[in-house]
Amino acid sequence: MADRLVGGQTREEDAALDRSLRPRKLADFVGQEKVKENLRIAMEAAVQRGEPLDHVLFYGPPGMGKTTLASVIAAEMGVNIKVTSGPAIERAGDMAAIVTGLSAHDLLFIDEVHRLGRVVEEVLYPAMEDFFLSWVMGKGLGARSINLKVPPFTLVGATTRFAAVAAPLRSRFGIVYRLDFYDQKAIQELLRRSAAILGVEAQPEGVEEMARRSRGTPRIANRLLKRVRDYAQVAADGVITGEVAKKALGLLEIDDLGLDQVDHQVLSAIVEKFDGGPVGLETIAACINEEADTIMDVYEPYLMQLGFLSRTPRGRVATRLAYNHLGLPYPDRSGPPGLQKSLWQEQQA
Ligand code: ADP
Repeated sequence: MADRLVGGQTREEDAALDRSLRPRKLADFVGQEKVKENLRIAMEAAVQRGEPLDHVLFYGPPGMGKTTLASVIAAEMGVNIKVTSGPAIERAGDMAAIVTGLSAHDLLFIDEVHRLGRVVEEVLYPAMEDFFLSWVMGKGLGARSINLKVPPFTLVGATTRFAAVAAPLRSRFGIVYRLDFYDQKAIQELLRRSAAILGVEAQPEGVEEMARRSRGTPRIANRLLKRVRDYAQVAADGVITGEVAKKALGLLEIDDLGLDQVDHQVLSAIVEKFDGGPVGLETIAACINEEADTIMDVYEPYLMQLGFLSRTPRGRVATRLAYNHLGLPYPDRSGPPGLQKSLWQEQQA
């Protein structure tokens, strides 16, 4: 998978940045007002009843703050958080060991929860529902069935792919939130907060320039800020003005909307090789040498958010806006009947 500056997934350079910029309290968590409000009520009610918070599922594109929110919940509730991920828990016994190691009301955060194996999920169900573990240890004649009570805990699951979470698991989460792209105002607020923490002066025009290219994604906003800060320090007098931000971001080959070369490749493949679509996801993936899952989870959501791409039952279609952005004329679809036209009409129907 391409290692992109404007990808929402974690890169090595993010680790140190994450530590300093990651909000610890709900009040520092920018945007997502509805989610915060609902969480606040749910947390308070749980504390009043002396119960753990109901199990929570966060879904949305990478870099939106799912992991951050999980640690914010733990901090707000004054409990410990154990962080793991779906692919890291291979056997039923691993899951049992993790859950038995929790204290009452602790948070268990499972990233990529859609990648848990079936057998592991089955251990989780009674644990989530009745705080009861039941699994078989060993194999054959030596196999033993183990049943034990576990402390009441809260499972916080995160996924980029809601539909891929097994239905029985999904239904066991009492609280489900979608973390969507942040609006410009929220991203600007986030950039101002981060700039203040990093001790760099960012003028409003500079903040605007960075926000516009951040793809509505906190992780990308912080990453761009860091790059622009370096540029300001080396090539200007340390202040992020509109001009400085524009020049720094120009060097990074990110266009006005935050699209990089891979996004352009996706759009160009559809437009140039397949007349704008519809074209299947696998075909696009093969054209640009990328995995179909990565295109679906990482590239497509933002292109769809911009209205550049639409998903149809027959495949992906590039919209008029995408043609405009690429500087290409939008084809006249009302020409003489042909294969392309009939497909188009079908899709419009
Ligand atoms: P995800 O788990 O959805 O991939 P993260 O929680 O790891 O995303 O968020 C990536 C980074 O973006 C975090 O380190 C944090 O610094 C920042 N971040 C995310 N959401 C917010 C927010 N709402 N306010 C401030 N910073 C945020």
